[in-house]
Amino acid sequence: MQRESRSNHDEQAVASPVSSGEATWLDFAALQSGELQQVGRFPELLQNHIRIYQVLKSRFSSAPPDAITIHHVRVALGVDPGNAFGVWQVPTTEESEGLGFGVYPIPSFFNHHCSPNVRREQIGRRFRFVTTKSVAAGEDLCISYGQFVAGVGLGERRKHLREGWFFECQCSRCMAEEAAQKQDAIHN
Ligand SMILES: [Zn+2]
Repeated sequence: MQRESRSNHDEQAVASPVSSGEATWLDFAALQSGELQQVGRFPELLQNHIRIYQVLKSRFSSAPPDAITIHHVRVALGVDPGNAFGVWQVPTTEESEGLGFGVYPIPSFFNHHCSPNVRREQIGRRFRFVTTKSVAAGEDLCISYGQFVAGVGLGERRKHLREGWFFECQCSRCMAEEAAQKQDAIHN
């Protein structure tokens, strides 16, 4: 994800819902594309993407000519990696199975932080996003991409984020840990 975050200047109370509303194609298309990074890493995907376009074009041959275009299909396929949320069987337990992935454009605007101030809850088919600590006016609302951050070190977190979401995490937790590591290196 790591797109331009929408600024939220409303002070949020702890545990209050922070996001709702219906998304449009424009919201979806505004999400950051991971197409080049993904196809760069897995070049064989390009053939799949071309085939998906061809299938959609023939399957929906009666659609208006500007509906299924190369551009639209590239946007859709580019947005998926890095923006999709995992959907799990609920209630969530150790045995819950992953049901699939979905792109929910409005919550996809949350940036990542390794010590997030927003938690995602899945209630049936809906997601709810709640703040987990007090948030000052103007402070970014961030979630954690993936459930791996609690006991995971800096290098492993950054690798996971680089491979899955195509960015080098520069959150305040990562920057503090990086500075501490540099200090250690100087003293040793
Ligand atoms: Zn981080």
